[in-house]
Amino acid sequence: MKIKRLDDSVVSKIAAGEVVVGVHSVVKELIENALDAKAKKIVVELINGGKSEVKVKDDGEGMDEEDLKVCFLPHTTSKISSFSDLSNLSSFGFRGEALHSISSVSKMRVISKTASAPFGHEIEVVAGKLVYSRPIHSDVGTTVIVRDLFFNVPARRKFLKSAAVESRMVTEIFEKFCLSRLDVHFVLVRDQQVVYDLAASDLLERVKAIFPDVPVQSLKSFEVEHKDMQLRGCLSLNTFAKRGMVICFVNDRFVVNQTLTSAVYAAYSDMLEKGKHPFVVLKLSLNPRNIDVNVHPQKLEVKFVNEEDVFKFVRDSLRRLLAKPIVRQIHVQER
Ligand code: ADP
Ligand code: MG
Repeated sequence: MKIKRLDDSVVSKIAAGEVVVGVHSVVKELIENALDAKAKKIVVELINGGKSEVKVKDDGEGMDEEDLKVCFLPHTTSKISSFSDLSNLSSFGFRGEALHSISSVSKMRVISKTASAPFGHEIEVVAGKLVYSRPIHSDVGTTVIVRDLFFNVPARRKFLKSAAVESRMVTEIFEKFCLSRLDVHFVLVRDQQVVYDLAASDLLERVKAIFPDVPVQSLKSFEVEHKDMQLRGCLSLNTFAKRGMVICFVNDRFVVNQTLTSAVYAAYSDMLEKGKHPFVVLKLSLNPRNIDVNVHPQKLEVKFVNEEDVFKFVRDSLRRLLAKPIVRQIHVQER
């Protein structure tokens, strides 16, 4: 026979390429796991742009020994148990693929402790194989350390970008989480240097830290509702930026979405001058039933069930926020 079933380890390595495209996707998955575990503080540390080591430490719920020993196996998740759960999903994860993919193409250590366990536990998985598992003293929460990404897939390792580029891509993703989850304390350390240390704060504080060039005094925060949709964020009352800075989130997930971007530009249509753009952070919340979550893990796209409703809600809300106060003319009648 010419046709053979591929070895599981080959399947895993191929599948890993779908989830893990670079250091930034490792960091994205690990931060999402920390948020799903209700972490209030997340520390991301990179060595050599993360190509040598990525470490993500959280103070979330943690895992006990039994869960830790299976968390890196394929299709293991605590987030859904049936297909129908997908229609009401509130977590980032659900595929049970991230830790499996990451651990298939790296040397991964996970240290975790739940609040009720007397001890923490640690596992090390090298190229998908559990090499040790032992009790260890640790704080409540989880730390994942990923070393030598793609060490066993030289062809992929070659395609990692330079440390500087990987590091920049991680930073961009990290910043999106900081803008989205204001209630979480985020720390980013690159080669022992603290790049961000952002305690929980409001959106304008975060914008100030992340975009020092944006004049914060020209920004207006907002919060509006319509039926079961809610829109929060901040917008610039004029256009100034050299390039478009419209940063969108849907149900706390960073997305790149044409409907939302066009709605923003439609709202600013009277104010657009050549070479000038608005600065907008847009956070749309809507019933998960009204979006399609079953998209590819790496894709930042989102599909709305009712595109037109979303477009009009965003455009009209922003238009109202941008409307100049009407100066009422008072005519004093002469007697
Ligand atoms: P998914 O997030 O899709 O469930 P993952 O492979 O990312 O799949 O994680 C597998 C499981 O491991 C999760 O469902 C969760 O139960 C557990 N887990 C992973 N990371 C953490 C973490 N930081 N804190 C607590 N549990 C975690
Ligand atoms: Mg996950």
